[in-house]
Amino acid sequence: PVLDADAPIKIKSYRLSEISASQRIELLKRPSIKTEAIMGICKPILKSIKERGDAALLELTAKFDKAQLETPIRLPPFANEEVIKQIRPDVVKAIDQAYSNIHAFHKAQKVTSGNKAVGPTDKSGDEEAEDAILEVETMPGVVCRRFSRPIERVGLYVPGGTAVLPSTALMLGIPAQVAKCSTKVIATPPRPDGSIAPEVLYVADKVGATHLLCAGGAQAVGAMAYGTETCPKVDKIAGPGNQFVTAAKMIVQNETDTLVSIDMPAGPSEVLVIADGEADPAFVASDLLSQAEHGPDSQVVLVGIDLSDDQLLAIEKEVDSQARRLPRVDIVRQAIDKSVTVITKTREEAMDWSNDYAPEHLIIQTQYPEEMVNKVKNAGSVFVGAFTPESCGDLASGTNHVLPTYGFARTYSGVSVSTFQKNITSQQISTSGLGLLGPHVVNMAECEGLEAHANAVRVRLQKLSSSSSA
Ligand code: NAD
Repeated sequence: PVLDADAPIKIKSYRLSEISASQRIELLKRPSIKTEAIMGICKPILKSIKERGDAALLELTAKFDKAQLETPIRLPPFANEEVIKQIRPDVVKAIDQAYSNIHAFHKAQKVTSGNKAVGPTDKSGDEEAEDAILEVETMPGVVCRRFSRPIERVGLYVPGGTAVLPSTALMLGIPAQVAKCSTKVIATPPRPDGSIAPEVLYVADKVGATHLLCAGGAQAVGAMAYGTETCPKVDKIAGPGNQFVTAAKMIVQNETDTLVSIDMPAGPSEVLVIADGEADPAFVASDLLSQAEHGPDSQVVLVGIDLSDDQLLAIEKEVDSQARRLPRVDIVRQAIDKSVTVITKTREEAMDWSNDYAPEHLIIQTQYPEEMVNKVKNAGSVFVGAFTPESCGDLASGTNHVLPTYGFARTYSGVSVSTFQKNITSQQISTSGLGLLGPHVVNMAECEGLEAHANAVRVRLQKLSSSSSA
């Protein structure tokens, strides 16, 4: 839609005390996404990749990304000295710092805590850290264990389009590296001249990517899900992307013969900011806008705690004036048009609104922000206090930026090391343990009509009683 460039850039605002229950439900909804039409576009693309592999992949890359490639796959090393020289030195340093922080936070996730975790645990060497094995003796002689193993082959989608996103390559590559996935395919669309952003190539080496798939959209997802002559088939695909990427991930995940899983369903990016009268209007506005510039479908929500008309006006003025200075003001205008401000009386009402909305990013700019964190039930990632802008978590603090959107924060977690692992359980029962547990299992098996199950225990118990009486 074409929005009036002279009109104020203003979020629609409501006072909680003045809205009805049905209006509340409406205001908590995300802008709708037209998935059916997008699925219709993606299905033939996926079919052609399945049937014609690399040939189809190269044709689709020429069509959508305007790049003529000889092969869609590159192998490491990806960034030689010439490539690294193309990156601004301060950007190399920034990527190195981000890598270090994200790696530290994700490596720490490998150590299982809780019931009688036994080593080997964290050794300081980079990829030496092993997950602790969870071990519980549930009754004497009955030992249950849980341990994790890497998902062997993973596909990491790094959006290209117009943006350069080394941060997304870090956010996917590092947890997969820490989990020790043996095949790590980074997929990203090439630029029209066939090149890939040097920053992404630099990160691909740092995270130990094994393949670089120079393709984007549904065709990249298809190549990784099915495998082609040059691209290995993967077991799981992770990463954000536009609606074609998301739709393709959802389609391949549902194909029983493809056997591929995905990290999470993804929708447009969003933020919810909780602010009280103490918050700096310029900070609040800058956080709302940093999300609004992501795309026209992004949604930003401001929940103000007991703000006076003047305090709200101060934030609105900042939103308008800061937005007008942004290069992506047209995108911001469209996102703001779909956004909402709600003014509550209390902190509790504000947190209830946020928990019902389940934001991807939750920013808390209030007095005593840590106390509010204790009340968070649903959110992808939380930014606590006035000096914690979302940009830091998006790029370099250490937390992951691939997060559940569209209300999926109610049930999904953001990408972490466990995205690239599965848990395996085991049990080991001693003869005395079977003596104690066996009779209960026989009784339950009989109750469930599973005679063979009961028998597998009985034959052992009989053997134990005959050898003990011998
Ligand atoms: P993209 O890499 O997701 O998509 C580019 C590809 O889309 C192209 O290669 C092409 O194959 C396909 N495509 C484009 N138009 C098409 C059409 N008409 N029909 C079929 N296929 C088509 O890059 P993008 O488009 O710039 O989108 C990036 C997305 O990723 C944005 O929505 C952004 O918000 C999101 N993102 C999210 C996060 C996060 O963590 N949530 C991080 C970074 C980016």
